[in-house]
Amino acid sequence: MKKFDVVVMGAGAAGLFCAGVAGQLGLSVLVLDHSEKVAEKIRISGGGRCNFTNVDTAPANFLSDNPRFCRSALSRYSPRDFVALLQKYQVPFHEKHKGQLFCDRSAEDIINTLLAECELGKVTRWQPCSVKNIRFLASSAHGVSADSYEIDSDRGIIQSSAIVIATGGLSIPKIGATDFGYRVAKQFDIPMVETRPALVPLTFDADAWAPFAQLSGLSLPVHIATGSKKERVVFHEDLLFTHRGLSGPGVLQISSYWKPGTPLQLNLAPLVDVAATLSQAKASSRKRIANELASLVPSRLAETWVAQGAALGHNWERPIMEASDKALTALAERLSRWELLPTGTEGYKKAEVTAGGVDTKALSSQTMESRQPGLYFIGEVVDVTGWLGGYNFQWAWASGFACAHGLAAKLRPSANIEPA
Ligand SMILES: Cc1cc2nc3c(=O)[nH]c(=O)nc-3n(C[C@H](O)[C@H](O)[C@H](O)COP(=O)(O)OP(=O)(O)OC[C@H]3O[C@@H](n4cnc5c(N)ncnc54)[C@H](O)[C@@H]3O)c2cc1C
Repeated sequence: MKKFDVVVMGAGAAGLFCAGVAGQLGLSVLVLDHSEKVAEKIRISGGGRCNFTNVDTAPANFLSDNPRFCRSALSRYSPRDFVALLQKYQVPFHEKHKGQLFCDRSAEDIINTLLAECELGKVTRWQPCSVKNIRFLASSAHGVSADSYEIDSDRGIIQSSAIVIATGGLSIPKIGATDFGYRVAKQFDIPMVETRPALVPLTFDADAWAPFAQLSGLSLPVHIATGSKKERVVFHEDLLFTHRGLSGPGVLQISSYWKPGTPLQLNLAPLVDVAATLSQAKASSRKRIANELASLVPSRLAETWVAQGAALGHNWERPIMEASDKALTALAERLSRWELLPTGTEGYKKAEVTAGGVDTKALSSQTMESRQPGLYFIGEVVDVTGWLGGYNFQWAWASGFACAHGLAAKLRPSANIEPA
């Protein structure tokens, strides 16, 4: 039987980072993964360049049933700390947009950094390796001095003092996502917050969407909102039309807040006063409404927009000087207050993350240890979900760091390691 202080399950962002830190704090660590390759999500993230953090990270950028939970970990391991780590390995990076930091070369730089940190911590890595069963051996019941775990893996039985679950969420099953972490939570009676796909494209009824399907591929800056007055959330980002609905950063962001059965409100021309511009054009222009509108929004959208008039009782397919003020006002209103009812999402197959997960009520915000002694949860498996823009990786680093220090303080108290 192999023995380790800690077995980290899942060699993704949170697991590899936590393993490296814990190893460097003096713990003997095994990190295992059922996939042959580690950190597949880092590899495909940020279009292959990994948006590894956001310099403006704050608790307000995260969704959770307990919004305060992430504060402590985020404050103890900041974007600056991760940047310093990359600088140690001379990894080149740049800021792209709204505080988002990306690798200049490729996401492999992040994976290589994490693996180098694991090397420094003398971390043992097993992959592919699957876990079939976990048993808790309470010291009281077994007449030994400390609690421990016995893990049946396809590489034999492993004994450890602690287990860290870092197996992520359900999104993108084809690169190895499983519900393993949630099953372990269930086994140890750790409560769950219902999971749902987040940062995900939204879909619409096929007939209702037919007029817009031809706009597939078109992208434009919008204001997009959801929720009633008190809970209203608005993002100012780009939107992308797809064959089945809407995607793009604005839609991915709002999808995390969207509740089935509720509408979205879109302003497709947020930077201009459409009504005033059309009214001015009416006084002097001989052009068609669509041609005038095309100076405010992409021309494909302008054409599609005016074509909707007939169904709404307006003739928008005419020269602007012939249009009534009422018709132009209605057109401008619809463009700046377009209300849409999504019928669903593209699901876990396309979602960047899984919202919900292990309920933070059962976890320590200082160490990520659950109320089951020696069992820790970090990263996306926990009910903490970041916005688009590098926040999810920052949570992976911060929760992994808090956990590693918590483990060291618990398992190596003589080394005087405080929780960070
Ligand atoms: C396409 C895409 C792009 C993204 N881009 C970004 C981005 O640019 N910036 C950002 O901040 N976030 C991004 N994200 C989100 C980010 O990748 C995740 O939030 C982050 O990887 C979560 O880290 P984690 O360690 O908790 O889980 P993961 O990184 O998913 O790691 C989980 C690991 O556990 C392993 N595992 C699963 N089940 C088992 C099992 N039964 N046994 C053993 N091992 C198991 C998996 O193989 C995997 O290696 C993106 C996500 C996707 C899908």
